Amino acid sequence: MKPVVYVTRKIPEVGIKLLKECCEVRYRDEVPPPSREELLEAVKDVDAIYCTLNEKMDKELIDKAEKLRVIGTMSVGFDHIDLEYATSKGIYVVHTPGVLTETVADHTWALMMAAARRVVEADNMIRKGEWTVPWAPTMLLGHDIYGKVLGVIGLGRIGYAVAKRAKGFNMKILYYDVYRREDAEKELGIEYASIERILKEADFVTVHVPLTPKTRGLIGEKELKIMKKTAVLVNTARGPVIDQKALTKALQEGWIAAAGLDVFEKEPIDPDDPLLKLKNVVVTPHIASASHDTRNKMAEMAAEGIIKVLRGEKPDNLCNPEVINVRPLEKVKMI
Ligand code: NAD
Repeated sequence: MKPVVYVTRKIPEVGIKLLKECCEVRYRDEVPPPSREELLEAVKDVDAIYCTLNEKMDKELIDKAEKLRVIGTMSVGFDHIDLEYATSKGIYVVHTPGVLTETVADHTWALMMAAARRVVEADNMIRKGEWTVPWAPTMLLGHDIYGKVLGVIGLGRIGYAVAKRAKGFNMKILYYDVYRREDAEKELGIEYASIERILKEADFVTVHVPLTPKTRGLIGEKELKIMKKTAVLVNTARGPVIDQKALTKALQEGWIAAAGLDVFEKEPIDPDDPLLKLKNVVVTPHIASASHDTRNKMAEMAAEGIIKVLRGEKPDNLCNPEVINVRPLEKVKMI
């Protein structure tokens, strides 16, 4: 009998095609995520779940899914999965690191530049018929990027790719990470600094840490008050890394100049949220990895990870390597 994989929502076709080669696929071919009730019902008798970051894979769900052997998430972040509990139950968790790095770094730069140079505000002004005088010496002044100081918090795959791009803008680059990266310091000529120094000195601050209990609220009122009044803050990591209420206040009261955000504390963000009333914030709906090529690669990679576990082969992108000691892999022949 073929193993059963439940796919929680519409994904690029390549992922489904791969899964269908060797699994029975229960494909919920819909864009919105399933309701909690639907999800809990659907996972009862499946061997694998193919999910996205919107479906919480917590203790309750894992307990419902009695046959579950593997969760594959079409994301690099896995803060929606109770990894410790999954491991204790012998459930393998695979994700999609690396393939989205450059795409997310590109988008981080798009937000940084749009926020610094007021691109969205300018676009809106024209569309609303408010461009009434020609070139004006003091109209829509923004902030330079070239030659300024960039602060990167979290120098992993994406943080590194963002820093690499900054070399082309002749920026001085400061970074903080829990691990010092001497290799990266040599390669990019970047400098290791405390978060406090980064906040004090950087003209642009961009966060690329995973969401963990330690990074939740990493940038709050205290941190925002340390930043330069002319600084731009960018977040393409996870919303709760920045205290959104404090950020709104900071943007309203001019503690910092602007922000570029792809992620929010609650997604979708409420259209009436006070943050969206501000002109000095540029927002996108969690699309940093949304290029055609990258989404195809992510869809494929999550499917490959699931298939490998079901076949009893060690997957390349395992979030919980310790799981092998709880439930060793057994080779299974699948057609
Ligand atoms: P990564 O694991 O390569 O890098 C994360 C870095 O953060 C690591 O170097 C790690 O040491 C560091 N770190 C962890 N905790 C820290 C802390 N408390 N303080 C400072 N540094 C800390 O991951 P990545 O591939 O670069 O992705 C980073 C995050 O970006 C993901 O976890 C995900 O949540 C987010 N992301 C968002 C999107 C999007 O669509 N907006 C897309 C991809 C990734």
